[in-house]
Amino acid sequence: MIVTSLDPVCTADGDLWVDGGRIAPPGAGTRIDCDGVLVVPGNVCAHTHLYSALARGMPYALDAPDDFLQILQRVWWRLDRALDEDGVRASALAGGMEALLAGTTTLVDHHASPNAIDGSLDVIADALEELGVRAVLCYETTDRDGPERALAGIEENRRFLAARRPLARGLVGAHAGFTMSDETLLACGEVGPLHIHAAEDGVDRGAVERLERLGLLDEHMLLAHGVHLGDREIAAVRATGATVVHNARSNMNNSVGRAPVGAFGPRLALGTDGIGSDMFEESHAAYFRLREDDVHAGVDWPLVRLAESARLAGRVFDEPLLGTLEPGAPADLAVLDYPAPAPVTDGSFAGHWVFALSSRHVRDVMVAGEWVVRDHRLTNVDQNELAARACAEARRLWARLDDVPPHPFSPKERTWTA
Ligand SMILES: [Zn+2]
Repeated sequence: MIVTSLDPVCTADGDLWVDGGRIAPPGAGTRIDCDGVLVVPGNVCAHTHLYSALARGMPYALDAPDDFLQILQRVWWRLDRALDEDGVRASALAGGMEALLAGTTTLVDHHASPNAIDGSLDVIADALEELGVRAVLCYETTDRDGPERALAGIEENRRFLAARRPLARGLVGAHAGFTMSDETLLACGEVGPLHIHAAEDGVDRGAVERLERLGLLDEHMLLAHGVHLGDREIAAVRATGATVVHNARSNMNNSVGRAPVGAFGPRLALGTDGIGSDMFEESHAAYFRLREDDVHAGVDWPLVRLAESARLAGRVFDEPLLGTLEPGAPADLAVLDYPAPAPVTDGSFAGHWVFALSSRHVRDVMVAGEWVVRDHRLTNVDQNELAARACAEARRLWARLDDVPPHPFSPKERTWTA
């Protein structure tokens, strides 16, 4: 069976045909046998940080952070400064591998490596291309590491935006308003559409009001989190058609609060914020967190959100059918080995998604018409070798972390480091 669309759910019997990297009409091109399996559109993770892929379990000897700002100062703003080009490459390969094996075919990444900025987006794009992952990349511009690095961040975004690759596009990365001056935000806005953290924590309150005041809020903007937005700000986001990306597990993990997901309207997508790229798991967590508060939340909610993640990527790639398996759509899909114990229909598929389906069912994955996972194994790269190389790189990275102190930047004092 084929699930040709997630919003609304549309199922079809028969086989799938692929030609020239796209879903083809029946009988044209190469046939994908859909007998006894469930073929679904590849998942899109609308906000992630591949650079965190080697951070799991890393040693931590400082006092435990008390709040979100301290989490940044003591964990993530130490890790990003410890990354060199080899670390960036290994992180992208490891994160990309896990994405594909989980049935995620497109990653919208937000990258930071303040001591290896120039060319970093090409390093990531090369790594993802090697695996066969579709990606929307950007560099995290910020003033927290000084004016030279802020400029270098803007230039890296500008450079990458101009270089269109078959499987990669760019946005303009901005960290968050609270680590950026008006001048830097405006300079980013001149380069192209922004991908920015907005009101993830109370420390970034007023983020959207400021973007609006600077004339930067528009329909192409991607706002990650939106936890602490006021009613007027939410109304402004909806009026402009900017996309908000909800990262449920990250919000819970950082104790930043609960995003008002019901208020954002149709343009609400799902991301992991770097906690892997498994969108089955992320959509389940987001759904159950929502249901905890709202018993009327429909079981189709996660699928509508995932469809919105795909529409967001589709806009960047100028591929309006991305995230569907209709003729003409990019052939990005996952084959699920799922012996359904109850009927799968248009009406029941959402229930299967929420209560049963998971990345363990992902058997094969195709991106742009090429098999990139076959029988749970990557096709383009030896995944055991990749993991072994990533482990060696993680050891190097963790050792370097000892020499990186907590970041001194604080939004109140506006103290920059060189
Ligand atoms: Zn993020």
